Amino acid sequence: MSKQYDVVVIGSGPAGYVAAIRCAQLGLKTACIEKWLNKEGKSVYGGTCLNVGCIPSKALLDTSHKFLEAQQHFQVHGIKVEGVEMDVPEMIARKDKVVTQLTQGVKGLFAANKVEGIAGTGKLVAADTVTVTDHDGKEQQLLAKHVILAAGSVPIDIPPAPVDQATIVDSTGALEFTEVPKRLGVIGAGVIGLELGSVWARLGSQVTVLEALDDFLPAVDRQIAREAQKIFAKQELDIKLGTRVTGSKLSKSGKKMVTVDFTDQEGEHQAKFDKLIVCVGRRPFSDDLIDPAVGVQLDSRGFIEVDQHCATNVPGVYAVGDIVRGPMLAHKGMEEGVMVAERLADKKTQVNYDLVPSVIYTHPEIAWVGKTEEELKAEGCEYNVGSFPFVASGRALAANDADGMVKLLADAKTDRLLGCHIIGASAADLLQQMVIAMEFSASAEDIGLTMFSHPALSEAVHEAALAVNGHAIHIGNRKRRR
Ligand code: FAD
Ligand code: AMP
Repeated sequence: MSKQYDVVVIGSGPAGYVAAIRCAQLGLKTACIEKWLNKEGKSVYGGTCLNVGCIPSKALLDTSHKFLEAQQHFQVHGIKVEGVEMDVPEMIARKDKVVTQLTQGVKGLFAANKVEGIAGTGKLVAADTVTVTDHDGKEQQLLAKHVILAAGSVPIDIPPAPVDQATIVDSTGALEFTEVPKRLGVIGAGVIGLELGSVWARLGSQVTVLEALDDFLPAVDRQIAREAQKIFAKQELDIKLGTRVTGSKLSKSGKKMVTVDFTDQEGEHQAKFDKLIVCVGRRPFSDDLIDPAVGVQLDSRGFIEVDQHCATNVPGVYAVGDIVRGPMLAHKGMEEGVMVAERLADKKTQVNYDLVPSVIYTHPEIAWVGKTEEELKAEGCEYNVGSFPFVASGRALAANDADGMVKLLADAKTDRLLGCHIIGASAADLLQQMVIAMEFSASAEDIGLTMFSHPALSEAVHEAALAVNGHAIHIGNRKRRR
């Protein structure tokens, strides 16, 4: 006999496990199906984010940052260290430990909230029916009043650089190197390419990033992107814009390496790398997830089509996270998971898609929310700008970490904050203050009138808010109306 549930969730990434937990909290009988097997072949929850995404990449970013600090930056503080060495297998083992702790954590949360976790591959075969094929090939059928599809995304492959997970790797393979590659190529100067390139550059790789677009970080406010480009150049990340990879060839004998063909304005070139990371984006993982007879609509790229509340065109079927439109970010999927769960429990929860924060976890971090200057100009919106460089922040100087700036954009008529753009140490955490403020429709004046602790990096946010209206204290006030 088929088991019966109020809700069946397919996928236990941040969108799926959060949706499942919230459904169960709201009294709905919930199962969450997950097919992921870890390196030891064990079924684990947490999806891309916990296993091969946000968390392991940040673990390596943190380790490599500490290594660079010890190697290059301690001396400024008068700390003398000699013989600093990197044990790469130890770094990877620590990363794996963090991953295991968190994936086990989701298992514990499922148990605590009475979500039934089911290991296997789920498929929607009717609006109210999901089949699960377990890892031994055994199939069972689940009946559900509601189904939430949260199957996430996978890296995009490109024919010129086929991934073998040995010499040419994707973002998953780049988290598993056993030694520091001498020459590292990265295809794609997006968020993931810059983060992974930074990890290995800090550990000593000579990193070349090949990016097809002429613009650097096109989604980022231009002033911040230019600042980032300068800082990355100082870090010796060789970012080649307007450079399209057209082919690659693995060495047939001797030490494994890859020769990459690429074209730029000047013509055709070749470069040799010991490892090549392909980071050209991710695609929704909707392959074989839904029987076409169910009639769930997908777009031409495989995203499941949903309305603003994540409902598909088939009643009772919802989709959340990377598998639907919008930025592929863990927190965006989590909020969608909560929204769907709460709407199933007759609440009116919504996601504010205008205030999805974005972060690039390089050093310094790059973080933004709301509109860029370029977007405001295109909309014909009159706005004021207030900015503050970290070099004028006492706390940043005390920490010897004063690259970057905070920039705030506010409506010229109403003073309402429209955008916040930060490049600097702890930008992600600083930004969050402005996400909250903007969620409450704060004006620049509201932030200016708020008391900030001294000395803290967040004072740069305060000063930028004061600068919007020409009242900055710790920096000269410049022309601000645009
Ligand atoms: P996923 O996390 O992809 O989870 C989907 C799950 O569904 C997977 O476990 C998969 O096995 C399972 N599944 C798929 N099909 C089936 C099926 N038929 N049956 C059963 N199970 C199935 N985002 C951030 O916000 N911040 C970051 O710092 C960040 N860093 C990243 C770094 C890297 C290297 C990468 C690759 C990604 C990063 N991301 C980051 C993106 C983030 O990981 C994703 O946006 C997020 O994981 C998407 O969540 P999701 O639940 O939609 O899908
Ligand atoms: P993102 O989508 O942010 O992960 O970034 C992926 C980046 O890879 C984009 O900026 C693309 O322009 C870039 N890209 C895609 N294909 C190629 C290619 N063949 N050569 C170089 N860059 C590429």
